[in-house]
Amino acid sequence: MSTHEHDTTSADLTAPDEAALRSRIEADVTALRESFEAGTTRSLEARLAQLEALRRGLRLEEPRLARALAEDLGKSRTESAMTEIGVVAQEISHVTKHLKAWLRPTSLSLGAMLAPATGQLRREPLGTTLIISPWNYPVNLTLAPLVAAIAGGNTAIVKPSEVAPATSAALTHLLRTHLDPGWVRVVEGAVEETTILLEQRFDLIFYTGNGAVGRIVARAAAEHLTPTVLELGGKSPVFVDEGADLATTARRIVWGKFTNAGQTCIAPDYLMATPRTIQRLMPHLRRAVRAMYSGKPDRSLDYGRMVNTKHFDRVLALIDDDKAICGGTDTADRETRFIPPTIMQGVDWDDPVMGEEIFGPVLPILTVSGPDEAIARIRSGDKPLTAYVFSPRRSVEERFAEETSSGSLALGVTLAHVGTTGMPFGGVGESGMGAYHGRTGFEAFTHAKPVVKKPLTPDTLRFVYPPYRGMKRRLLRRLFR
Ligand code: NAD
Repeated sequence: MSTHEHDTTSADLTAPDEAALRSRIEADVTALRESFEAGTTRSLEARLAQLEALRRGLRLEEPRLARALAEDLGKSRTESAMTEIGVVAQEISHVTKHLKAWLRPTSLSLGAMLAPATGQLRREPLGTTLIISPWNYPVNLTLAPLVAAIAGGNTAIVKPSEVAPATSAALTHLLRTHLDPGWVRVVEGAVEETTILLEQRFDLIFYTGNGAVGRIVARAAAEHLTPTVLELGGKSPVFVDEGADLATTARRIVWGKFTNAGQTCIAPDYLMATPRTIQRLMPHLRRAVRAMYSGKPDRSLDYGRMVNTKHFDRVLALIDDDKAICGGTDTADRETRFIPPTIMQGVDWDDPVMGEEIFGPVLPILTVSGPDEAIARIRSGDKPLTAYVFSPRRSVEERFAEETSSGSLALGVTLAHVGTTGMPFGGVGESGMGAYHGRTGFEAFTHAKPVVKKPLTPDTLRFVYPPYRGMKRRLLRRLFR
């Protein structure tokens, strides 16, 4: 029986098991902290060497990782290269190229009041960090933060998701084989393991996953005043405006929605348009699904599977066959965790599918009267991770940019925008806090420390020492008015 047939939380531990686990985890944290304190991770050369080791590991273990991703999520080798392994390789290249420049202190302008003085901003490592990752892009979302942690000069404990067990094992193999245990250690496991990890003191916790666990992480972090980056999810809306090029729009939405069988944090969750646009868009959407995944998506090598039966059941229950204009429950198969690309028309705002983030291959289409209502709908819900707009009108794009709040706003594009090292990736409000990718990741894993230096002679600060009388008092009062 495959692991996917179970709800994959690990069994309760007995007391001796728990004590043994706790002491193993504590030993890992202590070893990484000592290594950090010894300066192992400080120099540029050491960071570049670890990044190189990760790059080499990624290359050598690519077949193992790709096999695991196929087993856990039915990901094709090409999709894995594009959305998982390739993204990490790109991060490594970008960081390697720029790290020396990023580490150079930048000078600060301190103003006349402090003159003569000089100021610098230095990026210093935070210390020992914890990275907790989810199952949907298990390689990308584990290793991209790790690249940032290493670039920042930190040691890290990595906790991959137990929900993608084959990939968790492959990642563990990669990290233990290719990286220095003085830099990076892996703790595999589920709630018990993560709970013990969260009791430890870290200098940053980088968590990706759902908001309920995000709250558990934030609460535990507060105990040690540990900063957190929370990369969460939510319902990312799409608005298709009148007059948009519907053939291309449909292809981009279909690709964004059905990649990884909809199990993407920034997947377009639901689509809004006027009745007229919906009517015109429908055939294009259907055509795009057929073109990408054929009339028999269960046979397509490029179409993924639900990660486990729990998620299969959850998503299947959201499908209303009466509203499905493509896909539906008929051909879904619990054994192989297959749910076809499903598009539902005539969906109401209070239908079950509009309750939570769908996180599966189901696209509900909802009618709005135009941009005004679409904006009002977005504003009335939680702030999404991404909002998508397809419009030929600059004024409409500008209105979404100004009047709605989301982790990011993508105009005319889905998914591809988070694959770039040039753009911060993160949420706002319910979709999370903090961001990473490229330089932003390096910044997330470092402290920007201002360093000020003022010569002792002349002692210009004499003018602000008490007692404050006569001319001095008048001058200071005027200066600080
Ligand atoms: P998940 O179930 O793998 O959980 C994420 C991590 O939390 C895992 O490592 C897991 O072991 C740990 N965890 C689970 N329960 C815990 C508990 N009680 N205490 C401590 N740790 C616990 O993944 P998930 O949450 O199902 O992931 C899907 C969600 O993540 C979606 O909402 C999605 O939108 C979001 N997501 C966000 C991003 C992003 O970058 N913003 C990326 C991917 C997924």
